[in-house]
Amino acid sequence: MGDIYGDQFSIIISLYFSALTQYMRNSVLLLFVFIFIACSTHPYKSTNKVYKQKVKAYAKEIAALPKENPFSDSALLPPYWVGTTNFNLRKPTFVIIHHTAQNSCDQTLKTFTLPRTSVSAHYVICKSGVLHHMLNDYLRAWHGGVGKWGNQTDINSVSIGIELDNNGFEPFDSLQINSLLSLLDRLKKQYAIPSANFIGHGDIAPTRKNDPNYRFPWKLLAEKGFGLWYDENREPVPTNFNHIQALRIIGYDVKDTSAAIQSFKRHFLQDTTKRINDLDKSVLYNLQKKYY
Ligand SMILES: [Zn+2]
Repeated sequence: MGDIYGDQFSIIISLYFSALTQYMRNSVLLLFVFIFIACSTHPYKSTNKVYKQKVKAYAKEIAALPKENPFSDSALLPPYWVGTTNFNLRKPTFVIIHHTAQNSCDQTLKTFTLPRTSVSAHYVICKSGVLHHMLNDYLRAWHGGVGKWGNQTDINSVSIGIELDNNGFEPFDSLQINSLLSLLDRLKKQYAIPSANFIGHGDIAPTRKNDPNYRFPWKLLAEKGFGLWYDENREPVPTNFNHIQALRIIGYDVKDTSAAIQSFKRHFLQDTTKRINDLDKSVLYNLQKKYY
């Protein structure tokens, strides 16, 4: 009898262990499925970690008290440090609009998370209207590159960069533009950005850039309060009108005059040519008189 009980016991034990190993196998399988799902639903987990680490480092820098002696040894130092109590964060004063010149939103998200590309933007708007907010507005994105608008030469330090998914040769989808308009509305209100300071990448870098492409609806934007626009009824252009000076007054870098003209025409006349004609001069004269 003892043997019979012993056999039953060993059967129960082996059943128990096989159930246990089955359970463990299932658990390991479940764990893999979970990891797979987690990875496939959030492919940017590791780069988001880098984002958080960088933000933390900058927060630490901001939290540090000003250096006791930022000057030369000859500066006279006070006996104690006094910090002011009246301050807030610096605000962006420009919005620069781009087209990505890439083939999809996914491609751009990838580009902006690869360190070797050294490019980024605060926002990426997909053709569907989906808005990716990739960087806090108060931080400096790398979207402007070498550029100039008026006397402003460090555009990245004072601007928000918005990238529209567009390969550079296509029109802009209305869903995308609607999403852009809502974003611009919020940014304009939040940071009190002047209407004149909503411009394109091609405007600040006439020799290097042509984005957003000439199909971009600047007129529609201006009607909503983002960017400037000219009047339909315009007075005649005086014979002594200096169009280069007018371009400079508006903000264009006129170091390369034909590039500046081309930039201006792309923005205000949906024209990609470089020669200035009477219509262009009329528009330019009107803008200068209207706003400056
Ligand atoms: Zn651009």
